[in-house]
Amino acid sequence: MISEHDCSQLDAKDELAHLRELFALPADTIYLDGNSLGAQPKAALSHAQHIISQEWGTDLIKSWNKAGWFNRPLSIGNELAPIIGAGPDEVAVTDSTSVNIFKAVAGALHIQKNNATTAQRRIILTERSNFPTDIYILEGIKHFLDDGYELRLVDSPADLEHAIDTDVAVVLLTHVNYRTGYMLDMAALTAHAQQQGALIIWDLCHSAGAVPVDLTQAKADFAVGCTYKYLNAGPGAPAFIWVPKKHQALFTQPLTGWWAHQSPFEMQPSFQAAGDIRGALCGTQPMISLSLVSSGLAAFKQTSMEKIRLKSLALTDLFIRLIEQRCANHPLTLETPRDHAHRGSQVSIAHPHGYAVIQALIEQGVIGDYREPHIMRFGFTPLYTSFMDVWRAVDILTDILDHKKYDINLAKSAVT
Ligand SMILES: *Cc1c(COP(=O)(O)O)cnc(C)c1O
Repeated sequence: MISEHDCSQLDAKDELAHLRELFALPADTIYLDGNSLGAQPKAALSHAQHIISQEWGTDLIKSWNKAGWFNRPLSIGNELAPIIGAGPDEVAVTDSTSVNIFKAVAGALHIQKNNATTAQRRIILTERSNFPTDIYILEGIKHFLDDGYELRLVDSPADLEHAIDTDVAVVLLTHVNYRTGYMLDMAALTAHAQQQGALIIWDLCHSAGAVPVDLTQAKADFAVGCTYKYLNAGPGAPAFIWVPKKHQALFTQPLTGWWAHQSPFEMQPSFQAAGDIRGALCGTQPMISLSLVSSGLAAFKQTSMEKIRLKSLALTDLFIRLIEQRCANHPLTLETPRDHAHRGSQVSIAHPHGYAVIQALIEQGVIGDYREPHIMRFGFTPLYTSFMDVWRAVDILTDILDHKKYDINLAKSAVT
C-alpha cells in the first residue's frame, strides 16, 4: 500500500522539485494538463514586457536587426534543438504544427517524386488513431496534388512494420499518441521505413519536452511539433519544423514565401530557395509569442531530458498504482501502456462517464481533460508536478467516484 507519507517522501527526495518555482500555478490547482497547454513560466511575464515595451515600443523597426527579430525563428530553433536531438541550424520555430505538417509532407513527397527509384510511389501512410489534424492535412495534400496519392491508415502500432512496404512514399507518425499516450519505437520504425525506401516524418507534439528524443541518432528524415504543450511556450505559440542537413539542399515546400528565399531583401521577382533551414519558413512571424518560446525552453536548461524522463515515469507509475489501489471497484480502464518503453508522459483512463467525471475533477481543482471516447486524460509534467499532486488528485478522484459526485447530464463544452 502506498501512503500519503510515501508520496511526501518522494517529493522530499525529488531532484527536480525546485523547478516548480519557475512556474506560475494557482495555489489551489493540481495541473495535469500540461500535455495540452503548458503552465506559464513566471519569467514569461517580464520577457513579454521587455519585448513589448523595449523591442517594439522603443526600438520599433530597428528591432528586426538590433534585437534579432529576423533571425529569431532560427535562433530559438537552435535553443530547442538539443531537446529533440537536432543539430545546429536544423530547426525553425515557425507557423503551426498543422502548417508544418503540410510543408514537411509536401517537401518529402517532392523528394520522392524526383528520385527515379521512388517516383512512382503514391502511398502516404499514417495511423488511423493519429491526431485528426495530421490526417486532415494528408487528405488536403492528396486532393490538392490530384496525382493518384492514397492514404494508408494503419489500425494498430503492431501492424506498422508490415504496412510500411515498398509502395509507401512517405510515412507520417506521431511519436506519442495524444489519446492513449502510446509511444512508438522511433529508431526501429525509422530504420524500417528507410529500408523500404520511404521517407519518415515524426510528429513530436506529445514528445518534445516530455520524453527524450534523438532525431539525429534515429536518422529520421523530418520532424514537426508543438511548443505550447510540454515546452510551455504559451497558448498558440509557433510550432517547430526539423529539416536535417542531409535533406536541406533538396528540401522545397510549396509555401514559398519570402522568408524561405535565399536573399529576401533583394526583393527579386522570382523565388530562389534558401537551400538551408530557412527553406522551411514562409513569412513574417508573430514576434511576441515566438519570443516567449524562449521563456518556455529556459527551464529545460536547468536539467536534462533523462532526469525529466525518470521523474515522469515515477509520476505516471505512482498515478496508475494509486488508482488501482483506491479505485479498483470502479469501471476504469487503463488506456496507456504499462510498459515504460511504450509510455509517454500521460495516463489515459476510460470511464463510461469520463466527461462528467473530468468536469467534476476540474470543479475541485484537478485539471485534466477529455478525449472521445470516454477517455480522461492526465498529463504529467515533471518540471512542475509533484508526487503529492498525484496523491491529492487520486484522493479527489476516489471521492468523486465513491460518492458519484458527477453529473452525467452535463452538456459538453466546445473544448473538452
Ligand atoms: C496538439 C497536436 C497538434 C496541434 O496542431 P496545431 O496546428 O497546433 O493546432 C497536431 N498534431 C498532434 C499530434 C498534436 O498532438
